[in-house]
Amino acid sequence: MAKLAEADLIIKNASQLLTIRGFSKRLKTGKDMNNLNIVENGAIAIKNGRIAWIGKSKNVKNNISLRLKGQMIDAKNKLVMPGLIDPHTHLVFSGSRHEEYKMKIAGLSYTEIHSKNINSGIISTMKATRNASESELVCSALERIRLATQHGTTTIEIKSGYGLNRSNELKILRVIKELKKRSLIDIVSTFLGAHTIPPEYRNRRELYVDLVISMLPKIYKEDLAKYCDVFCDNLGFTIEETRKILEKARNVGFVLKMHAEQTSYLGSAKLAAQLGVISADHLDHISYEGIKKMAKRGVVGILLPGVTFHLMERQKQKFMECQVKRMIESELPIALATDYNPGSCNTLSMQMIMKLAAVFYKMSPEQIINAATINAAHAVGMADEVGSLEIGKKADIIISDVQEYGELVDKFGYNLVRTVIKNGQII
Ligand SMILES: [Zn+2]
Repeated sequence: MAKLAEADLIIKNASQLLTIRGFSKRLKTGKDMNNLNIVENGAIAIKNGRIAWIGKSKNVKNNISLRLKGQMIDAKNKLVMPGLIDPHTHLVFSGSRHEEYKMKIAGLSYTEIHSKNINSGIISTMKATRNASESELVCSALERIRLATQHGTTTIEIKSGYGLNRSNELKILRVIKELKKRSLIDIVSTFLGAHTIPPEYRNRRELYVDLVISMLPKIYKEDLAKYCDVFCDNLGFTIEETRKILEKARNVGFVLKMHAEQTSYLGSAKLAAQLGVISADHLDHISYEGIKKMAKRGVVGILLPGVTFHLMERQKQKFMECQVKRMIESELPIALATDYNPGSCNTLSMQMIMKLAAVFYKMSPEQIINAATINAAHAVGMADEVGSLEIGKKADIIISDVQEYGELVDKFGYNLVRTVIKNGQII
């Protein structure tokens, strides 16, 4: 009898094993979003942190054996799937904005809160973050990453953007670099110096745009970020300013991202398509034309339903129900993210976001799971490594206390994830 391949860890008897295979090289769109490539009563074997074998549980004994100190997990009555990927967060910050949220509850809009008090919103978080030390920021961020991981996130994108001057933006990017070393999960770093105009540049915004541009070469050279993002919005940067910053960033070597069409329609989705950004995020005011242009260019649309939930923006939810349907029909690749930040979306749970995508956008469970795994991996340039269960890819796996994947978006308000495996290690 041939010698069996050896594994460090075998998970077997999963009621369903969602592989989501076949899309590491191309984005998942349209009807493909309805498929999860499921192995019923599935098993998966891991060796050296990577996926070594996938099949039916009954075929384990003829194909794979455990190394001497290997471990077997019985996933009977449980769901096994790729770790969740959160491709948009602002996780490094100091302070809290719960006082501002009281105003929100009292009926003020995000824009009204911003314009009433110039020390509110991003600026209040900027002040607290500027006053925090690097080690304080590392500590609080590590705790947040731990919480996100407990809820199933195994890869996360983190943006700078609460420093808003040279020294503090660099400080945040160094914190993210430190998090990469100290955290168990994969972290993707994005420079968002163009988050908003800081108070000291309020009447000299062109100088702030120049400052952001002048920071690009150092950040890229020192490997502090691979992605450059701009908040293209009435509360952030104009179309022309965004274009200027992102074109320079591309010349330096950055991959581009945009916050687009969030608080009003600006035509930023069209700009995203023109520039060929990897993802355009929010899109709560996107036009049909914008959808078609982004779809044609293969720009991932990252949807952030936690924001309109937290900010109680019911009209946007209605509008987006219709637009998301059009996005899928137009073959626009969709991903989901938390947008975790202290002001407009205070959750680290991708499970919560998946629920909201069902409630607000009427996305199907299959579409939602694809958007939170493989397409989210594409949105951070990591689809070769994570986002699906395929031989050779990283063994990033979550085991949930449900028997069928549909339950993932049915149940809500408590953590369904029981076991998180990152690079083959149970964490
Ligand atoms: Zn954001």
